[in-house]
Amino acid sequence: MLSPKEEIKKLADIVDVIAQFVHLKKAGRNFVGLCPFHAEKDPSFTVNPERQTFHCFGCKKGGDIFDFWMEYHGTTFKEALHDLGERYNVPINNVTSHVETNRYSKRKAIFAINQTALAYFKTILSTSPKAEPARQYLNKRNIDNKTASDFEIGYALDQWNGLTDILLKQNTNMALAAEAGLVIPRKNGGYYDRFRGRIMFPIFDLRNQVIGFGGRVLDNTLPKYINTPESPVFHKGETLYGLNKAREAIRKNGMALIVEGYMDLLALMKNDITYAVATLGTALTPYHVRKLRGYTNRVVVVFDSDNAGKKAAMKTLPLFANEGMSASVLVLPNGHDPDTFLNEKGRKEFLLLLKNAVPMLDFYLAMEITGNDSDVETIRVLKNFFPVLSTLNSDALRSIYVRRFAEKTGLRESIIWSELQNFMRTGSVTSAANNINHRIHDSMDQKKITDLQILNLLIYHPETIKKMMEIDCRILLSDPAIKTIIDIIFEQYRQYNAYSPEVLMDIIDDESIRQQLRELLHKPFIVYSEEEVDQAVTELEQKTHRKRFLQSLKQAKGDIETQNSLILSEFHS
Ligand SMILES: [Zn+2]
Repeated sequence: MLSPKEEIKKLADIVDVIAQFVHLKKAGRNFVGLCPFHAEKDPSFTVNPERQTFHCFGCKKGGDIFDFWMEYHGTTFKEALHDLGERYNVPINNVTSHVETNRYSKRKAIFAINQTALAYFKTILSTSPKAEPARQYLNKRNIDNKTASDFEIGYALDQWNGLTDILLKQNTNMALAAEAGLVIPRKNGGYYDRFRGRIMFPIFDLRNQVIGFGGRVLDNTLPKYINTPESPVFHKGETLYGLNKAREAIRKNGMALIVEGYMDLLALMKNDITYAVATLGTALTPYHVRKLRGYTNRVVVVFDSDNAGKKAAMKTLPLFANEGMSASVLVLPNGHDPDTFLNEKGRKEFLLLLKNAVPMLDFYLAMEITGNDSDVETIRVLKNFFPVLSTLNSDALRSIYVRRFAEKTGLRESIIWSELQNFMRTGSVTSAANNINHRIHDSMDQKKITDLQILNLLIYHPETIKKMMEIDCRILLSDPAIKTIIDIIFEQYRQYNAYSPEVLMDIIDDESIRQQLRELLHKPFIVYSEEEVDQAVTELEQKTHRKRFLQSLKQAKGDIETQNSLILSEFHS
């Protein structure tokens, strides 16, 4: 009988699963996309449908469908098993073999507590007489019932023990409720509600589980918003509010809008602008951007007209550039945020602004450079621009930016470059170092071609194994990892008189070797057609023979007679 893990692997297609979160394109036998786990502009994340594995050539993350699920969603193995089991209708009975049981049960309990809180806040909002001010507030902000229920908005009563009492009644582990961020321990024992007198916005992950909450006051008391603190299930810097709902629309519309707050997002949704997400009161992070680019490579950041918003725009410029995203800026007219603007001017006006969104670099330059700046001013602006330039991870991009800056200020490009070099020598040089690493890597790969040919034959044409063992092609190998892999293959065959490439991953223990095998399997290297196989084997046989001959010749160095007989036999063979 298959284990649930094997059962799921049989039913699920890794391409389908990953494509829900990463934009994949077909490339030969593989699918490629921008890696969701590290910064990059050119795809090095590959998915191999035949092997049902993924591998990133940039950050080396890889594995099977479960490895992807755990890495992408930050789940434990058991959660991945449950999530995928549910999706593919594979019953998961107590699978206890995994070591992560503790982390699993903690997360599971926190999700359950969050779910209880969600139900409680929702009931309060819809039924409690004490929630009347909240209902009025939502009404005033034009949040209709449909939007409120779509987003499962609730209300936390203005008291210290609303949720606390409910949780206690249900025998909840209160220490975990505190870890979930819903209650706070009192100094002399007991707990009290963290969220009081606030409209509650549940925050969902991409698996539609409640990971946290944002709470807004009904007036302008500060803090206007509080969020769940970091918890075992909630990471603010990686979460975009509304992405679980918006991701399909983002894909369909080919763009994403990024707004700042919950209310802004709701206002957009209500106006049928469904491809928007909100940051949770934090600056945008690379993790946010990587999540988004699984659905689009075009974003428009919507800013209020205040200065803080504009400053924030500048900081995000390299972030988008480095992740291969095209970013534009929509600045709302004085005094407006998306919510007030939409309420006052309506959808049509907003879409008009959206149409005229300015590319972020242009926005930045226009804002920084007025055209009649003094020399001192120009130099100041240039200095501010260096951190942006130096965090770009491509020289090509950098040179485009430098040219644009030169055009705008009238400074000579050569001067900007030499100043920039100065800056980068003292500042960060990591990107340059990375480039060099890549180049070294590429030249090493050239040497491995024969290794790859042999491995290729053994993997894609396992029927050649007998012949390959006969000629003992291992003498041609230069890469220690490939050598190890081929030793294992040969050993399998010797033991069982058969071998199947499918089991290879399972019988290799060493993670670094597995990683290299994965990497090799995801390389777009030539796969021989049936007709080419014979020829390839013959060529390898000749190569092996020649190599062996040269080796003997070397050994016989000084022994003229042996050398001569070796050479003679070589000519007559
Ligand atoms: Zn990667």
